[in-house]
Amino acid sequence: MTESKSKSRRVLVIAAHPDDELLGCGGTVALHAKQGDRVRSIVVCEGTSLRNITKPDAYRSQAQNAANILGVENIATLDFPDQRLDTITFTDIISPLEKSISEFQPHLIYCQYGGDINLDHELLFKAAMVAFRPTVPCIEAVYAFDTASSTEWAFPRSFVPDTWVDISETINAKLKAMACYESELRGYPHPRSLQGLKNKAEAWGNQACMDFAEVFMTVRRSYRNGKTPF
Ligand SMILES: [Zn+2]
Repeated sequence: MTESKSKSRRVLVIAAHPDDELLGCGGTVALHAKQGDRVRSIVVCEGTSLRNITKPDAYRSQAQNAANILGVENIATLDFPDQRLDTITFTDIISPLEKSISEFQPHLIYCQYGGDINLDHELLFKAAMVAFRPTVPCIEAVYAFDTASSTEWAFPRSFVPDTWVDISETINAKLKAMACYESELRGYPHPRSLQGLKNKAEAWGNQACMDFAEVFMTVRRSYRNGKTPF
């Protein structure tokens, strides 16, 4: 999401559940990959609550297939209990995030927005805020992404984007990646249907005179050592 790119950037996506990592930023991630950036994803919870999953770790292959389509070089699953992050000590959630950030040294982080209907999302966001605090100097920007069928179902609705990314080039890859998560897909007009996701991208895009977009809330931008925003 930087305007001038002289070298490959390291991009880290942090999400709670399998498919969350692509619902809000899959198109943007695919753009990064197309531009030569290195993208890794962390999915904090396991996916055994996914419907129609008969093998305990079947969600891993769904997640890997989706990551391959988007160009994500690595997707890590931390296997915390699905919909039960509140049973985990807060520092136990923070520690592996800190470790991943320390190892990968990302320039840019996309993190799932926490102000929605899902408690796992809220807790993950709070933990991630600690993990990517400003003591980590490599991080130049942190953006929060929304989650279809969680963010818009919250009250009060507090997700107010300030950044639009044109994903017209990658909307098809995003939908193809989402199709890998057969167990998470719903029929139209559910927000997590393929048509619903496409319509949503179109509606976000039209706000900024684009065909399709993903939107973000800026959590933080930091420019150090003489760098400027543009
Ligand atoms: Zn989720």
